[in-house]
Amino acid sequence: SKPIWVLGAGQLGAMLKHAGMPLALDVRPVDINESSAPALQADDLVTAEREQWPDTLVTNTLAHHAHFVNKPVFGRLADRKTQKELIDSLGLSTAPWRNVANEISANELRDQLGERVLLKRRTGGYDGKGQYWIRAQDDEVPADWQGQAIAEQAIPFDEEVSLVGVRNRAGQCVFYPLTLNLHLNGILYASVAPLTRLQALQTQAEDMLGKLLNELDYVGVMAMECFRVGDQLMINELAPRVHNSGHWTQAGASISQFEYHLRAIADMAIPKAQILGQNVMINLIGTEYNPNWLNLPVAQTYWYGKAVLPGRKVGHINMVSKDLGEIRSTLQQLKYLLPEQYYKEAIEWSLKAL
Ligand code: ATP
Ligand code: MG
Ligand code: MG
Repeated sequence: SKPIWVLGAGQLGAMLKHAGMPLALDVRPVDINESSAPALQADDLVTAEREQWPDTLVTNTLAHHAHFVNKPVFGRLADRKTQKELIDSLGLSTAPWRNVANEISANELRDQLGERVLLKRRTGGYDGKGQYWIRAQDDEVPADWQGQAIAEQAIPFDEEVSLVGVRNRAGQCVFYPLTLNLHLNGILYASVAPLTRLQALQTQAEDMLGKLLNELDYVGVMAMECFRVGDQLMINELAPRVHNSGHWTQAGASISQFEYHLRAIADMAIPKAQILGQNVMINLIGTEYNPNWLNLPVAQTYWYGKAVLPGRKVGHINMVSKDLGEIRSTLQQLKYLLPEQYYKEAIEWSLKAL
């Protein structure tokens, strides 16, 4: 079949390639810093594993191809200001925000948004990088944030959830059950799905993401991160790609988010996936590979083969079972196979969430 080029060759690209294999889809992630660009044919397809990229030989070649799926969407969502404007224009709930224009002071932002204000760089932030909580003693916005950030009201959320959905060219949308997520210092540590107690929010979430997908005429997988405040969802941010909080679907759904994305862009069927049991996903963050993970029969280990750096996502472990006791005992065993300072919290949280 014709190649599907992926802008970016990180773990998401690798997992897309992996998911394409059973369908004989020729998925080819490309490192954006390669010194030569691949020769694309006119009817090839192009997708991306990231929402933003610098100008390089590779990105110029891939992002300007006529079949770059969702091309107009990336710029719009990669800039938090235009992303927030889109959410507002559809009347969807999101944390109250202001553009941080050059002239605006920290005091004005507090007057408009409340005592606790979070600055987020308009572009380039991930894993909580590119964020700054304005301090009580700040009268002005720090110089390197002026004109480059949005300011958000602090949301005293009950918890964080996300919805991963897929839309095809005909406009058909399919969604996974809501996923409960634990972020520590802005980084996703653990996800749990499905949860009976989140079912009451499912329609609300699907309506929200469905509106966005339709408005953008989007094709493929998108993720919507939300805060739950009581029985209301508030959109935190959108990701126009496969998403870390959907990694559990590799083990836990009959069709993974990676396969859905490929099916949608390649015009293949996207029936509703079956959920295969209770799922927990634990991210491996800044921790060395431990071969003992492979001794756990219920744990599926994904190791990205990247250099281990503090705070860096280097892998994840998916667990799925119809037997809740089996998930619990696997989590208990995993506790001793992960550094306590990082994982005690995430594992305790997961056990409590079940
Ligand atoms: P990602 O890696 O998911 O792309 P990111 O760096 O783009 O993350 P956000 O998702 O915007 O950043 O924020 C990271 C985390 O910071 C959120 O998951 C949440 O825990 C916290 N956070 C973000 N915005 C707010 C807010 N307005 N009020 C309270 N907490 C917030
Ligand atoms: Mg983000
Ligand atoms: Mg986020």
